[in-house]
Amino acid sequence: MIFKKKEFKRTVLIQKEVLDSILSFCQMKHPNEGILILKGKSKNGEITISGLVIPPFSETGPTFAGFPHSFLPFDMSYVGIVHSHPSGSAEPSVTDLHNFFGLVSMIVQSPYDENSIFAWDRDGNQIPHSII
Ligand SMILES: [Zn+2]
Repeated sequence: MIFKKKEFKRTVLIQKEVLDSILSFCQMKHPNEGILILKGKSKNGEITISGLVIPPFSETGPTFAGFPHSFLPFDMSYVGIVHSHPSGSAEPSVTDLHNFFGLVSMIVQSPYDENSIFAWDRDGNQIPHSII
Protein backbone atom coordinates (compact mmCIF):
# COMPACT_ATOMS: atom_id res chain seq x y z
CA MET A 1 0.00 0.00 0.00
CA ILE A 2 1.46 3.36 -0.97
CA PHE A 3 0.71 6.64 0.76
CA LYS A 4 2.11 9.89 -0.60
CA LYS A 5 4.22 11.92 1.75
CA LYS A 6 2.35 15.06 2.70
CA GLU A 7 3.90 18.25 3.97
CA PHE A 8 1.13 19.36 6.31
CA LYS A 9 1.06 18.42 9.92
CA ARG A 10 -1.05 15.45 10.88
CA THR A 11 -3.61 15.24 13.61
CA VAL A 12 -5.68 12.29 14.71
CA LEU A 13 -9.33 12.58 15.69
CA ILE A 14 -10.77 9.55 17.39
CA GLN A 15 -14.40 8.94 18.15
CA LYS A 16 -15.12 8.43 21.84
CA GLU A 17 -16.90 5.11 21.37
CA VAL A 18 -14.08 3.79 19.19
CA LEU A 19 -11.60 4.77 21.88
CA ASP A 20 -13.70 3.01 24.53
CA SER A 21 -13.75 -0.15 22.39
CA ILE A 22 -9.97 -0.03 21.96
CA LEU A 23 -9.43 0.41 25.69
CA SER A 24 -11.71 -2.45 26.67
CA PHE A 25 -10.23 -4.70 23.97
CA CYS A 26 -6.70 -4.07 25.28
CA GLN A 27 -7.85 -4.58 28.85
CA MET A 28 -9.36 -7.92 27.84
CA LYS A 29 -6.10 -8.99 26.16
CA HIS A 30 -3.96 -8.02 29.14
CA PRO A 31 -1.27 -9.25 29.96
CA ASN A 32 -0.88 -9.95 26.26
CA GLU A 33 -0.74 -7.28 23.61
CA GLY A 34 -3.87 -6.56 21.64
CA ILE A 35 -3.90 -5.38 18.05
CA LEU A 36 -6.67 -3.85 15.94
CA ILE A 37 -6.92 -2.18 12.54
CA LEU A 38 -8.11 1.43 12.59
CA LYS A 39 -10.74 2.35 10.04
CA GLY A 40 -11.50 5.88 9.04
CA LYS A 41 -10.49 8.54 6.58
CA SER A 42 -7.73 11.00 6.02
CA LYS A 43 -8.17 14.47 4.62
CA ASN A 44 -5.64 17.30 4.58
CA GLY A 45 -3.56 15.57 7.21
CA GLU A 46 -6.50 15.05 9.52
CA ILE A 47 -7.00 11.38 10.25
CA THR A 48 -10.46 10.59 11.60
CA ILE A 49 -10.86 7.17 13.20
CA SER A 50 -14.40 5.91 13.15
CA GLY A 51 -14.18 2.13 13.35
CA LEU A 52 -12.13 -0.96 14.16
CA VAL A 53 -11.41 -4.27 12.48
CA ILE A 54 -9.96 -7.33 14.18
CA PRO A 55 -7.06 -8.39 11.92
CA PRO A 56 -7.21 -11.90 10.47
CA PHE A 57 -4.68 -14.42 11.77
CA SER A 58 -3.34 -12.10 14.43
CA GLU A 59 -0.82 -13.40 16.92
CA THR A 60 -0.18 -11.78 20.24
CA GLY A 61 1.90 -12.38 23.33
CA PRO A 62 3.18 -10.32 26.25
CA THR A 63 5.72 -8.48 24.10
CA PHE A 64 4.49 -8.73 20.56
CA ALA A 65 1.40 -8.33 18.45
CA GLY A 66 1.23 -8.75 14.75
CA PHE A 67 -0.56 -10.11 11.75
CA PRO A 68 0.48 -10.97 8.22
CA HIS A 69 -0.27 -7.90 6.12
CA SER A 70 -0.56 -10.06 3.04
CA PHE A 71 -3.89 -11.39 4.28
CA LEU A 72 -5.42 -7.94 4.36
CA PRO A 73 -7.79 -6.92 1.64
CA PHE A 74 -6.81 -3.68 -0.07
CA ASP A 75 -9.02 -1.19 1.67
CA MET A 76 -8.41 2.55 1.65
CA SER A 77 -10.46 2.96 4.81
CA TYR A 78 -7.70 1.22 6.79
CA VAL A 79 -5.79 4.19 8.17
CA GLY A 80 -3.49 2.39 10.59
CA ILE A 81 -3.26 0.04 13.52
CA VAL A 82 -3.52 0.27 17.27
CA HIS A 83 -1.82 -2.11 19.67
CA SER A 84 -1.17 -2.25 23.37
CA HIS A 85 1.98 -2.32 25.43
CA PRO A 86 0.92 -4.13 28.61
CA SER A 87 4.21 -3.15 30.25
CA GLY A 88 6.59 -0.34 29.54
CA SER A 89 6.09 2.84 27.64
CA ALA A 90 3.74 3.77 24.82
CA GLU A 91 6.64 4.58 22.54
CA PRO A 92 6.89 2.51 19.37
CA SER A 93 9.60 -0.16 19.38
CA VAL A 94 11.94 -0.69 16.45
CA THR A 95 9.76 -3.65 15.48
CA ASP A 96 6.65 -1.48 15.63
CA LEU A 97 8.18 1.05 13.24
CA HIS A 98 9.39 -1.74 10.98
CA ASN A 99 5.86 -3.14 10.81
CA PHE A 100 4.22 0.24 10.36
CA PHE A 101 0.96 0.00 8.49
CA GLY A 102 -1.06 2.87 7.02
CA LEU A 103 -0.83 6.46 8.24
CA VAL A 104 -0.87 6.20 11.99
CA SER A 105 0.17 3.76 14.67
CA MET A 106 -1.58 4.14 18.00
CA ILE A 107 -0.17 2.55 21.14
CA VAL A 108 -2.04 2.02 24.38
CA GLN A 109 -0.20 1.43 27.61
CA SER A 110 -1.48 0.02 30.87
CA PRO A 111 -3.77 0.97 32.70
CA TYR A 112 -5.74 1.55 29.46
CA ASP A 113 -7.54 4.76 30.28
CA GLU A 114 -8.11 7.81 28.10
CA ASN A 115 -4.66 9.15 28.95
CA SER A 116 -2.96 5.88 28.02
CA ILE A 117 -3.19 6.21 24.24
CA PHE A 118 -0.68 7.86 21.92
CA ALA A 119 -0.46 8.28 18.15
CA TRP A 120 2.75 7.98 16.12
CA ASP A 121 3.80 8.45 12.54
CA ARG A 122 6.05 6.06 10.62
CA ASP A 123 9.17 7.94 11.73
CA GLY A 124 8.27 7.50 15.39
CA ASN A 125 7.17 11.11 15.89
CA GLN A 126 4.17 11.67 18.08
CA ILE A 127 1.00 12.91 16.34
CA PRO A 128 -1.35 15.01 18.47
CA HIS A 129 -4.78 13.43 18.89
CA SER A 130 -8.12 14.49 20.23
CA ILE A 131 -11.25 12.65 21.21
CA ILE A 132 -14.41 13.63 19.35
ZN1 LIG B 1 4.66 -2.39 20.17
